[in-house]
Amino acid sequence: MSNDKIILSVATTGSWALKSHNPALPITPGEIARAAVESWREGASVVHVHVRDDAGAMSCDLARFRRVKELIRAQGCDAIINFSTSGGAGRVNEDERFNSLAAGPELASLDAGSINFNERVFLNSPDFLEELARRMLEAHVKPEIEAFDSGMIGNAMTLIEKGLIKTPLWWQFVLGVKGGAAATVRSLVHLVESLPAGSLWSVCAVGWRQLPLNVQAIVMGGHARTGLEDNLYYRRGELAQSNAQLVARLARIARECGREPATPNEAREILGLTGTGGSLSP
Ligand code: ZN
Repeated sequence: MSNDKIILSVATTGSWALKSHNPALPITPGEIARAAVESWREGASVVHVHVRDDAGAMSCDLARFRRVKELIRAQGCDAIINFSTSGGAGRVNEDERFNSLAAGPELASLDAGSINFNERVFLNSPDFLEELARRMLEAHVKPEIEAFDSGMIGNAMTLIEKGLIKTPLWWQFVLGVKGGAAATVRSLVHLVESLPAGSLWSVCAVGWRQLPLNVQAIVMGGHARTGLEDNLYYRRGELAQSNAQLVARLARIARECGREPATPNEAREILGLTGTGGSLSP
């Protein structure tokens, strides 16, 4: 397989925004699954999923995670499913954050350290991270190591050295959060240069910096995440119409640069995914 393939991820919902911010934001399991499938049709091979309760608040409800997966698969979509374990960045207790692993994702986020996340502390203690990595290993769920700054690479290395995270390592840089690394060219170059050899990486960035940092990843040979979780706008002053609209633009730019979006199975091969979570039967 060509190394030029790019893994496009879509983060459809996140924990924070509401329909009052962008009416296209998916909230119900049906809306989240539809957004995932539409994005997959446009070239996303990974769908990063958070779920919400009926009122739109972030939730760690296992039944909702299961429902989203079931609805995605029922539409014949074989995208890699990546469930969040962030618990809304400090909104729920640690136990609830493990819930989504029981729904059988192939990937799940592992936020590799604590950070002042706007007004709150997003706490990811060493003990919690070790327990999360251990549970992922037992469940055959590959961690997507989310790093908000370069110190989190060091935290993750502790888990890697303990054998709790297996290669190939898959990093997601989350840039532009106040309290984390800035969403700049210099930040991304520094982070990529700080990774252990053989690492695979992707980048997402908050707000209007999403597109320029995604483009930088295309150019640098990395992978990229888009979607309404990170950015509600298509361009300044114009709300995105859908997650799929953002994915379609990113796929278009990647192709123009000679980077064909990987299919889900190509992405599985690149990421070394060996679990059964990709099966079309839920
Ligand atoms: Zn997320």
